[in-house]
Amino acid sequence: MIRKIEWVILILISMIVGHGCSNDDNVIANSGGPYAGMQANYVNSVYSDNLGEFIVSVYYEAGAEPYTGPIGLTANDTWTITRTSLQSLFMNHVGRVVTVPSGLAAMSALPNQNKTTWTQEQLLNLAKANAPLSTPTEIAVGVYFVNGTLNGDANILGVQFLGYPYAFIFKDVVVAAGGDGATQRYVEQSVVVHEIGHAIGLVNNGLPMVSGHEDAAHPKHSINQDCVMYWAVENRQNILTTLANFIAGNRLNLFGPQSLDDGRSYHP
Ligand SMILES: [Zn+2]
Repeated sequence: MIRKIEWVILILISMIVGHGCSNDDNVIANSGGPYAGMQANYVNSVYSDNLGEFIVSVYYEAGAEPYTGPIGLTANDTWTITRTSLQSLFMNHVGRVVTVPSGLAAMSALPNQNKTTWTQEQLLNLAKANAPLSTPTEIAVGVYFVNGTLNGDANILGVQFLGYPYAFIFKDVVVAAGGDGATQRYVEQSVVVHEIGHAIGLVNNGLPMVSGHEDAAHPKHSINQDCVMYWAVENRQNILTTLANFIAGNRLNLFGPQSLDDGRSYHP
């Protein structure tokens, strides 16, 4: 039985561990508590050489369907961006299969939740009620596409909460970022990869860094502007500038060299 005061403390802790920045990041670096332990356990499982398959499970509310199909500039499939990025990160995890869906038929439709704004608790409740199954040899991360915004913030494109293997994408904010079909696909995919990146421990979020590349002004984000873990990837006002090189180069792996080093080097 948890007493009222303990709930208050838990709520206060949970308010400071979210990753979802607008212009600032509200994450307290190296915050301890149960969430850091949950995060460490998940990250160690993900980078273990015993893991045979890493699965991206996608869920979407009616009205918040992810983009699929050809990116537009090339014949590349939209979700090849997430798949290639993760395959690049796990390149030294020999034999590992990375499973990412391509079309809506391989994703799970959820009823419209009829929300214009979401709290952290509401998002986590949605994810927990529709969580992918993991086993010791197959671990999944859940990606949830929802309508509306995080706490009314029209600039936050996505969020991940420390300790939970879930990534949330705010479709209305993706659409509001603008751009043509190819640009929109790059915006959405880069937010997916960024939030999965947080969930699986990048940058100093449970995964040890080979070289220091954490942005002191934006904890848990890379100082490398040419890496998807750069803070501005989460922000509607900054994302188009940040992604210009990715789009022009038709890049499929969005992680920068420092992040790739971190993922390839960790074998707990
Ligand atoms: Zn972030």
